[in-house]
This record gives sequence, structure tokens and C-alpha cells, in this order.
Amino acid sequence: MENKSTKKDRQQLLITLLSKEMEHLRKICFKYQRRPLLDYPITIQEEKCPKDNQYAGLYKYENDTHKIYIDTDEIKKYTDYNKQISYYSKKQAFNNLKSIILHELTHAYVKDRFELISKLKGCERDASPIFLACLKHFGGHSGYNFMSGYYHSDLYYETCDIDNYKELEKYLICLIKEYNKVSEELGKSKSIGNNNYTLCNFEYSYRNAGLLPKLYSKDTIVGVKDNEFKILNTSANLYEVGVAISPYALKILAEKKADNYSNFKWKGINKHYCLSNKNIKTINIEDNIN
Ligand SMILES: [Zn+2]
Repeated sequence: MENKSTKKDRQQLLITLLSKEMEHLRKICFKYQRRPLLDYPITIQEEKCPKDNQYAGLYKYENDTHKIYIDTDEIKKYTDYNKQISYYSKKQAFNNLKSIILHELTHAYVKDRFELISKLKGCERDASPIFLACLKHFGGHSGYNFMSGYYHSDLYYETCDIDNYKELEKYLICLIKEYNKVSEELGKSKSIGNNNYTLCNFEYSYRNAGLLPKLYSKDTIVGVKDNEFKILNTSANLYEVGVAISPYALKILAEKKADNYSNFKWKGINKHYCLSNKNIKTINIEDNIN
């Protein structure tokens, strides 16, 4: 006999599972405290994921609300379970759905809990060390191929024996402060030689275990002042920091990679000629950003 669920059934199931997972995490994180797991509200709903962007679950933060979307087909694997065509048991389908919700809820938890102290954007992203340390502690899973980088990282070796959440949190707060410090040191606008300024920005990574030189933008401004040619070079770089990059490694690698713009994924290099105050001619040397 075939079971066909309605959208209402599935929504009810999602709400029930989410509140169970929230209570499960609340007991891990705030066992003896009378407080909710999250400071901000959270919603969950099904969504048919687009063909060109396949996902089982998706997390977004919009209008001060954590939003979880679960692919309709993933829910139906359990609610509309069909023994004849499934290569897994109904129990496995159920556990899989729970695991997807736990993964997405961990994104919400990490953002809610750690974003305020992190100077790097995206501590809740999939390849962020903060996210992965929490996910592992909560017994969650990540299917991305950067996970091999995680299992070889300092973070993994330093956190795999921590079985108490408060201890893990202390470790993560120190780690975030270390990343903050290193990125601030590296990020300061540096004057290299005469009239050359470089600014570095860092964010946690979406999909890479390593250090991804993401965006490089350089502007050279050429003008005449007091009958003399003046040249000013400014560049701004953006890096994504993945789970395998400790704060110490970040310092060494970012300094090595900063000058070699060919490393960067997105580049915008422009020259601006100031012919007069109102007449500026811009030449695009290289640009794959826009
Ligand atoms: Zn994720």
C-alpha cells in the first residue's frame, strides 16, 4: 500500500522534529540553565530544491530570523516510504531526515551564539572551523568533500577528545579571538613603499578546507599634481578561511599569497587616469567580478 502525505502532514512532521532537535541541543549546550537554545526565532518549511542547486537542506538568515528549508523529496523518502523502490529502510529514512535538520539547526545555533564575537564573517558556514567543531560535538554529519581536510586539521585533533560542551565552547571562543587577532593584524591597511596600499579581508569558508584567495581588486590612479606625475596603488583582497587553516597557518599563508594576484578567483584591475578634476578615464585591465 502506498502512503501519500499532504503538505500539511509534512509541515507538522518538520515542526515536531525541529523542536525535538532543539531540545536535544539545548540539553547539550545549556543543561542546567533555564534558557532557550536560540536568541532569535527559527522557522522550518519544505521547499522543492532547484535542479541546478541540489540540496537536502538549506539554512538562511533573513529579517532577524533563522530559516531552514528541507527538500520536499527528502521528507517524502520517509513520509511516502515505498518498500518496493527504496534501497534503505523506513528507519534509515527517518534518521536521515533528523540528521539533515540537526545539520541545518547547527548553522542557526553557531550564528546565534558566536557571530557577535567573530570579526570574520560567516562563522556558521559549512567549512568554518567553528561550525564543524559544533556539528561534530552534536553528532551531526556533513557530506562535503572538504571533510577530509577537517579530519587532518589541528582543530580535529584538539577537539576530538572534548566531551563536555562548556569546555568546547571555551576552546572555540579562544579560537575565534585568535582568528580575530590574526585577521586584524593582516587586514590593516599597509603602506608598501610609496603610495601603495593593501587591505586584506577575511571570512570563513563555504566549501574549502584551505585558504581560498577569493577576490582581488586593484586600482591604480594616475594623475598630475604640481607638474609631476603621481601614482597611487590601492588593492583590497578577500580570503576565505577553511577548517584546515589554523590562525597560525592563516598568518603564514596569507602573507605568502597576498602579492600573487594570479592566485585569486575573482579579479578586478583598473587604471584611472585623472586628466583633470572632472575628466577621469578608466581602463579595465582585467575584470571577471562584474
Ligand atoms: Zn550546511
